[in-house]
Amino acid sequence: MGRRKGHNGDEENLSCSFCGRTVNDGVSIVPGPADANICNECVEICRQIFMGDKKEEAGNAKRELPKLKVPRPAEIKAFLDQYIIGQEATKKALAVAVHNHYLRLSQPALPEALAKELGDVVLEKSNILLIGPTGCGKTLFARTLAKMLDVPFAIADATTLTEAGYVGEDVENILLYLIQAAKGDIASAERGIIYIDEIDKIGRKTENVSITRDVSGEGVQQALLKILEGTVAHVPPHGGRKHPQQENIPINTENILFICGGAFIGLEEIVRHRQGHQVIGYLDSDTKGRVQNSENAPLAVEPEDLVKFGLIPEFVGRIPIVTSMAQLTEDDLVRVLTEPKNSLVRQYRKLFALQGIKLDFTPEALREIAHQATARKTGARGLRAIMESFMMEIMFEAPDVAGEKTITITPEQVRAIVRQTA
Ligand code: ADP
Repeated sequence: MGRRKGHNGDEENLSCSFCGRTVNDGVSIVPGPADANICNECVEICRQIFMGDKKEEAGNAKRELPKLKVPRPAEIKAFLDQYIIGQEATKKALAVAVHNHYLRLSQPALPEALAKELGDVVLEKSNILLIGPTGCGKTLFARTLAKMLDVPFAIADATTLTEAGYVGEDVENILLYLIQAAKGDIASAERGIIYIDEIDKIGRKTENVSITRDVSGEGVQQALLKILEGTVAHVPPHGGRKHPQQENIPINTENILFICGGAFIGLEEIVRHRQGHQVIGYLDSDTKGRVQNSENAPLAVEPEDLVKFGLIPEFVGRIPIVTSMAQLTEDDLVRVLTEPKNSLVRQYRKLFALQGIKLDFTPEALREIAHQATARKTGARGLRAIMESFMMEIMFEAPDVAGEKTITITPEQVRAIVRQTA
């Protein structure tokens, strides 16, 4: 390097502008412009300062997550109302539970007068159990909450899980989905939401005691229990089974909110039996469209009912908030078709609008779609399949309909095509 000066010649009387030493003091000097020079030792000190700053920056990045906004329960409910039809009791229960959960996480300072009395009180996590038939909006609730809170969200299916040592997924894998949803940011994943679907399918199968081992039942509940309670779990980075040689990712589950959901077929019978009533089936009066539900007659589920159903008491203890949801009625399904921000009808109208076509549905057509979905007993989940089946034909032809600028869907069209495809 041309500018590097040695121990000899006319550079000998240069001194370091930082420490004042010269080559005579055993350092090398690099001269800079305007008589500013630096010695090799001061360069090293500067390098260490820069490296130290970088390390601190990296440390801070993990610790300093963006501050959580803690919306009021009414705000949460108003947000849910934009996407979810009906289920008023569940909306309120979840709004309060989620508000409390994030209040617990953000821990704003206590008023001075109460700090002494309540400062040491530990707020426990309140995981949530949603009980309701297929297609009533359980997953939608969990997804919508995550959207509102802007936290990572993952869905897991309890039926794929097995306790360690058996064929299937390790329970820790559900945390891997969350880490993936957080794009690998562990700190962010540590305050996310996990929805565990079909939790009712891991009930203890007491009637099957002859089966050598209750692989998918109690063992999975035990394994899930630790994660639900809050623990530092070690997650295999590539999923599948844990492997002794592989470096697992540590993640603290203390602040992860777990929402479990399931249909719990047979639970109503247990509840009514405890209450001294007789019931026929889980959901009846489907001919009337309106089924027994939490809106009309909330299913007052007690922890003992869930234990009777097959959940172990410790597991039930870890999910203190239980809310039962209604099967959506035909009226609800008509609203599901039209009212939510991303409703199916709005989506189809947009698709057609992009082609310059105005798409309309007569009220009778909407009612017919809802009616068909009710008959299939798949709740709102069936709506998309029904819509797809007749809209596919219409969309196939739509771009060729020269000059026609409005298409109106009638109940006859719905009936004709759905009948063919059912
Ligand atoms: P579940 O988890 O209860 O089986 P989902 O939440 O997956 O049902 O519902 C399936 C789809 O049906 C959702 O994506 C949504 O489009 C629609 N849906 C279900 N319930 C409702 C509801 N209460 N309000 C609006 N849409 C709903």
